[in-house]
Amino acid sequence: MIIRFAIGSFLLTLATVCGVTLAGSGSEKKVPVTDFGKTKDGVPVSKFVLANGKGLEAMVSTYGATLVSLKTPDRHGHPADVVLGYDSVEGYENGSSYFGGTIGRYGNRIAKGQFTLDGKLFQLPRNDGPNCLHGGKIGFNKRVWTAVDRSRADAQVLELSYTSADGEEGFPGQLEARVTYTVPANKNELRIDYEATTDKDTVLNLTNHSYFNLSGNPATDILRHELLLHAQEFTPVDATLIPTGELRAVAGTPFDFTKSTAIGARIEQADDQLKFGRGYDHNWVLEKTKKVGLQTAAEVFEPNSGRVLEVLTTEPGIQFYSGNFLDGTAIGKGGQAYAHRTGLCLETQHFPDSPNHANFPSTELKPGQTYRSSTIFQFSTR
Ligand code: BGC
Repeated sequence: MIIRFAIGSFLLTLATVCGVTLAGSGSEKKVPVTDFGKTKDGVPVSKFVLANGKGLEAMVSTYGATLVSLKTPDRHGHPADVVLGYDSVEGYENGSSYFGGTIGRYGNRIAKGQFTLDGKLFQLPRNDGPNCLHGGKIGFNKRVWTAVDRSRADAQVLELSYTSADGEEGFPGQLEARVTYTVPANKNELRIDYEATTDKDTVLNLTNHSYFNLSGNPATDILRHELLLHAQEFTPVDATLIPTGELRAVAGTPFDFTKSTAIGARIEQADDQLKFGRGYDHNWVLEKTKKVGLQTAAEVFEPNSGRVLEVLTTEPGIQFYSGNFLDGTAIGKGGQAYAHRTGLCLETQHFPDSPNHANFPSTELKPGQTYRSSTIFQFSTR
């Protein structure tokens, strides 16, 4: 009895030192945690490993509630890391590519960093040409989150929370944000659930910014990956990547991924939209395959490894970004320089610049409401 108490309080003390809160007593801790260094300001950062016995292993850091690595087996059962990222917290602090980060408050762009809510004009930082991108200068991906181990018998579960102050990066309302990563014991998938509440009317669009390279070898580009998007329309953009407001049919354009197509097959075609994005960097309007809940949005197949990624989401849109702005200057895990188009993002989201488009699904959140959004990255092989 005394011994059990001593071990319990030792684990609890250790966890407190690491900046981790354990749900219940120390002996319930299930997700292994290690030190991931300190921020420039000296704040300790932890890294958690969520794994199942089927070969899926996800590493999540409290810095940015970031997915640092994601290992899944190929068709021969050999696991490899299929996302881009850095070896240390310094990389994430200095980097500007949003590798694996939780993006908030507003994923993607808001034109001129401005929107009007309840008759009041809000000005956000303009950190991407004339526009606000991914929540401003210091988005949610650059904040240290608080972790709680919520593991159950059938899954490893890590809950991360962050309180964003009223007025942070120009957004109204104090926002309580929560991101939960779940790795089920019996399925090779990573589920991400988002929840948020506010004390003033605000706008919100949370997503995860993982760059996938399903080959497991980020020295190679993603152009031979085959992509299927369950979308008949996309939202065309202007030269600064702000949607014009139009929902345009993909049929007959290089944006038609209704049949699985290699990403590289049409990416160099002469097309104004491809020119604006320097490749694919657009929001697709997802088909409603079900009335409510999670629906299949995308499927990616990498022919060499046989890996298949299916993306399911509750969101109405998905940003497919073909890593066009990667240029070899970001030095990632294991010293690998990430060259042009060596990772692809599938950011489940509400449409970019929604606060300025009355015809887009609303991104407003009011006091008393709870924002909820879920995305599953499901892995298999072929
Ligand atoms: C955007 C790109 C941007 C990238 C930054 C994507 O979500 O659509 O335009 O360059 O994020 O890593």
